[in-house]
Amino acid sequence: SIPLSFFAGIGGASNQGVLVKGSNYLETLAQTSYVVFDKTGTMTQGVFEVSGVHHNEISDEKLLEYAALAECSSSHPISKSLQKAYGKPIDRNRVTDIEEVSGNGVTAKVDGISVAAGNAKLMKRLGISYQECHHVGTVIHMAVDGKYEGHILISDILKPHAKEAIAELKKAGIKKTVMLTGDSKRVADQVAKELGIGEVYSELLPADKVSKVEELLHQKSEKEKLAFVGDGINDAPVLSRADIGIAMGALGSDAAIEAADIVLMDDDPLKISKAIKIARKCIHIVY
Ligand code: ADP
Ligand code: MG
Repeated sequence: SIPLSFFAGIGGASNQGVLVKGSNYLETLAQTSYVVFDKTGTMTQGVFEVSGVHHNEISDEKLLEYAALAECSSSHPISKSLQKAYGKPIDRNRVTDIEEVSGNGVTAKVDGISVAAGNAKLMKRLGISYQECHHVGTVIHMAVDGKYEGHILISDILKPHAKEAIAELKKAGIKKTVMLTGDSKRVADQVAKELGIGEVYSELLPADKVSKVEELLHQKSEKEKLAFVGDGINDAPVLSRADIGIAMGALGSDAAIEAADIVLMDDDPLKISKAIKIARKCIHIVY
């Protein structure tokens, strides 16, 4: 039978906006010594501001329209930001053949014209030569009708408690904090530096994130546990692979919430250390 104080632990956690799906997770959480994060939506707000549109032949407005339309069925934070920047209602009848390539971007037909919106990997995959961009921020390269048309630059901002969340984990004796992201090395390194995360891996596809977590699982001892914190559809496989999966509940995708063992209802990264502390306290009472 499950000790009563486990229920008290789960109840106490849920009062703090930390939803624990089973009492066994409290025990694992209490033993966590590696905390691995996704970047976008977890440590950063995932609400980007469009900070520049650099075009070749097509106007800024038209390029943004193509991007917003091509992205109309994506739930990625990048898509949401583009919709917001475009600011007009989308006529979905204009968009066909939508394909989202996870960790890369999207391709679609807008008014029958092929549009690709995504990172350098997507352009390479499509065999489109693109111009390197040296601005700081996330770059969405745009190809229209098979031709490179420029890029849209967006910048993400750190969540209010992101830095504090990492500091708190260190204070709580967490051995290792690692950030994994599909975003570019430049953006990833900058964010990691701002947060005080020592280990960062960038330009990862969803499957690469799983392999990285597997590598990290091998590095630690059996009784030390690894927690992964993420928000996206892409993160579901890693959330399941980690000893404990923690999802962001408000911004997070349904797939992430489903795959997770613990859900942070208000998306506050500071709740990660809080959850660990609650779990430790609870285990201490039980044993
Ligand atoms: P993270 O690991 O930081 O949460 P993702 O794995 O979701 O990021 O995405 C990685 C990268 O793939 C993004 O930084 C972006 O360059 C590209 N990307 C993914 N989805 C989209 C999309 N819908 N539109 C444009 N680019 C995208
Ligand atoms: Mg993410």
